[in-house]
Amino acid sequence: MTTGFPAAAQQALQDTQLRRNLGNATRTIREKRARAVAERPDWEALRAAGSAIKRRVLRHLDEYLLQFEAAVGAAGGTVHWARDAAEAGAVVAAIVRETGAREAVKVKSLTTDEIRLNESLAAAGIDVVETDLAELICQLAGEEPSHILVPAIHKNRVEIRDLFRRAFGRSDLSDDPNELADAARAHLREKFLRARVAISGANFAVAETGSVCVVESEGNGRFCTTLPDTLVTVVGIEKLVPTPEDLEVFLQLLPRSSTGERMNPYTTLWTGVTPGDGPQSFHVVLLDNGRTDVLGDEVGRPTLACIRCSACLNVCPVYARTGGHAYGSVYPGPIGAILTPQLRGVEEASTLPYASSLCGACYEVCPVMIDIPRVLVHLRARVVESGASARSERAAMRALAWTFGDDRRYRRAQKMGRLAGRPFAHDGLIARLPGLGAWTGTRDLRAVRRQTFREWWERR
Ligand code: SF4
Repeated sequence: MTTGFPAAAQQALQDTQLRRNLGNATRTIREKRARAVAERPDWEALRAAGSAIKRRVLRHLDEYLLQFEAAVGAAGGTVHWARDAAEAGAVVAAIVRETGAREAVKVKSLTTDEIRLNESLAAAGIDVVETDLAELICQLAGEEPSHILVPAIHKNRVEIRDLFRRAFGRSDLSDDPNELADAARAHLREKFLRARVAISGANFAVAETGSVCVVESEGNGRFCTTLPDTLVTVVGIEKLVPTPEDLEVFLQLLPRSSTGERMNPYTTLWTGVTPGDGPQSFHVVLLDNGRTDVLGDEVGRPTLACIRCSACLNVCPVYARTGGHAYGSVYPGPIGAILTPQLRGVEEASTLPYASSLCGACYEVCPVMIDIPRVLVHLRARVVESGASARSERAAMRALAWTFGDDRRYRRAQKMGRLAGRPFAHDGLIARLPGLGAWTGTRDLRAVRRQTFREWWERR
């Protein structure tokens, strides 16, 4: 990861088909979101409300978590606490094994992707079938998701047709989206009907009632949460909201920010166990996996307010060109650039805080007002402090500090810079400078002026 993002991004940029797929998809969602948001004159008030609720949750997270645990227990469910991916994987594997099942259906869940749950269950002899269409595409292709909301955004329908032809043995399939969806539906329906265990994530968990909420657009999640006997829901501890009334704010913010829809097609809420209706065994795994460390950092803390809408991805000029795989994490784009280094440690993901032009577009669209550029700059400072930045960069910064620390040294450096840059300057800009290729390869360097302000002033 130390050389991670730049190298992976460079590779992604070579793929013109990928860039075309990404450009079309992000432009469409971006424009749809802008129209949906413009319909609401109270949009800024909604954003402020969402941000305030999340800030309150983070301030009192310990209390809300205990309240949630008690409410789930009172409703007939069981709460398990997992410090990290290994603990969460072991808990889920034990629950599935107890049912005697060797297969589980799963509704799209980034949190389970974060802890690589499919792999740890496979090691325990349990197969997981992804039921979200885009996640299924990624699973069949053996690829990682590349977008929070549209995990297969990097693929076009011809690529998906070829994949389905191979995976389902259906050489007759065309690239008609309806036909492709039908083929996936037939494949999944049979899995739903025989599944005894389902695994889900959750968009929100309500502390007051112990309810869990999944927001999705295909209805497959509802199959998962209603048909099997056992349901295991893996939830990051930051997903809590205090009361059902607070959900109202997020259920307005989320669809408009993510898919540009006024209302989400399938919003499923369930609370504990109801005899004779739905899963009769319900488990919630509350996952930390680095989140309490994020909570402990005052500047980084707002990252935990994220509702995974993906609006920041769709407006990010970096993401729109590199796609999600370059981020080396299930959390791509601007949110990934601040979340992954905090969850894994800045030494592990030292290049991600630099995967941004700091243009601020992500902050403008974020429905819970996370100041992503501020967190990026904060994380860059942490990367430097940790010593994980490039040796050449550290040496350059030390040299700059030495030069700027003394007026005479600074003036001498200006004179030398003017002389050294003169042969390469054209119209006041240097497009190529030996030794500074990494900089001038992607942008021009401004040449040192013929006369500085001080020189001009002294002459007068
Ligand atoms: S950071 Fe904000 S815009 Fe980005 S995914 Fe999270 S909530 Fe959405």
